[in-house]
Amino acid sequence: MIRRKLRTLRAPAQRLYHVLAIESSCDDATVALIYRPKNQPPVLVEHVKESLDNTTAGGIIPLDARNHHQKHLAPMVKDLLTRHGIKRPDIVAATRGPGMIGSLSAGYNLAKGLCVAWDVPLVGVHHMLGHLVTPRFFQGPDQAVPQYPFVSLLVSGGHTMLVLSKSALEHKVLANTVDIAIGDMLDKCARELGITGSMLGKEMEVFVNTKLESPHNVPDEFVMPNPLQNKGGRVNLAAYSFAAFITALRIAQQQYYGSTQLKNLPEAARQEIARRVQHAIFNHLATKTALALSQALESGLIARTENPLDFVCAGGVASNLNLRDMLRSQLSGFNLTHHYPPPKWCTDNALMIGWAGIELWELGLSTDLSALPSAKWPIEDLMNFPGWHSSTL
Ligand code: AMP
Ligand code: ZN
Repeated sequence: MIRRKLRTLRAPAQRLYHVLAIESSCDDATVALIYRPKNQPPVLVEHVKESLDNTTAGGIIPLDARNHHQKHLAPMVKDLLTRHGIKRPDIVAATRGPGMIGSLSAGYNLAKGLCVAWDVPLVGVHHMLGHLVTPRFFQGPDQAVPQYPFVSLLVSGGHTMLVLSKSALEHKVLANTVDIAIGDMLDKCARELGITGSMLGKEMEVFVNTKLESPHNVPDEFVMPNPLQNKGGRVNLAAYSFAAFITALRIAQQQYYGSTQLKNLPEAARQEIARRVQHAIFNHLATKTALALSQALESGLIARTENPLDFVCAGGVASNLNLRDMLRSQLSGFNLTHHYPPPKWCTDNALMIGWAGIELWELGLSTDLSALPSAKWPIEDLMNFPGWHSSTL
């Protein structure tokens, strides 16, 4: 519920202002300083990131992630502001949810403390809102940014959803995953194939696109599924499902390679299998996205107009160039203008939280200092959540 005018809001749109942004929903500690000149595109002053190395742990350990944020965020903020001679930004935007509660709390509570110390407003930002409004940050004379209403495909380590955004405050999920997120499955399959690194989906993309000379000898029958297609009701279900890919990969490994694990196969075979896995996962994503768009157009949820509909693809997986190509070709039957944030801004970052904070703040919103961070926060309930202050609603 929105509490009305519980405190006097400053009028930010009337003047230029600085936003300090903090994102700590998962394992990357990121901080940004954004300058918002009056009636001008926003300027990123600086963005800093401190990633937690999960390579040896083989995944994210929540306590390690929380400690990582507690150790790094405060000095990152201090150094950033000192470097730019800013003693007191005008607002602080911090990720309030969804995410890992320990990680969220570390950044969000730091933001609260800074707001108390500086006597400035807090804007608690929804992490997925940050991803979906990111392309709107990159405004410029030659840069058309997505205009509401627009559709976003959010593909990350924790989410896979297609969202219709009527405004910054009003979102409708058109399709969601019924099990795990696409990035999670890419990471699992990459690990099974012996790919290493801290961002496995990205490492898999690099591996798949590396030129190898030797033949792969992988049988044609070594195929990956396209889930939710095998029964009538499922074919028409606008939903994603990724859990089956790792099972299919292990079954195929047993069938064609017996006791030899995939990670011990020759490089060319591993690469070919990785290519098929990546292709199948992206093909499923594209197939169901096309279905969800068709259904939303048929039902009138998305209005049919002559103007192209802005289509944003964001989240860590959206930095994959093979995925971008596939979406462009498989969604070519729709009248869409595609927007992909620069790959650097697809993964979790504080710029997206700062920009989402600006969109909310300029709509008159801020967050009460008593509002809690939340591991769960459906994007459809963005405003139906305790702790908002509004000067306009
Ligand atoms: P996020 O949760 O938005 O930070 O995104 C992290 C997820 O994106 C992880 O599962 C990564 O493996 C995945 N990811 C990052 N870069 C790529 C890429 N180039 N291709 C595929 N997946 C990627
Ligand atoms: Zn994310």
